[in-house]
Amino acid sequence: MSLTLINRSGRCLALNLPHAEVCTAARCSCVTLPGRPPRRVAGSITLPSGQALTDLPDELLGAAEVRALARRGDLEVRHTPTKPSSNEPREPDAPASKPARRKRGESR
Ligand SMILES: [Zn+2]
Repeated sequence: MSLTLINRSGRCLALNLPHAEVCTAARCSCVTLPGRPPRRVAGSITLPSGQALTDLPDELLGAAEVRALARRGDLEVRHTPTKPSSNEPREPDAPASKPARRKRGESR
């Protein structure tokens, strides 16, 4: 599943994605800045009014800010099922693969 977020608030939204709320061990959306020690800066999303962002990871719903905006109706959240794989087994075979039987009336 992936997420689609639509900005219904009528204003530009900037969503902060704190590491503790959004990131998982497998996916961290933070930016690491080089330095000693390296600094981790939480990611953010800017969503202009009326715009939609698609293909977002489900983890974004973990952010309190995203959930609060969704509860107020400022943010429409849609779950989009991930697309099925491109090579579907149900794809019809080419009709030429079936042996064409011809009945001939002239059998001697
Ligand atoms: Zn992170």
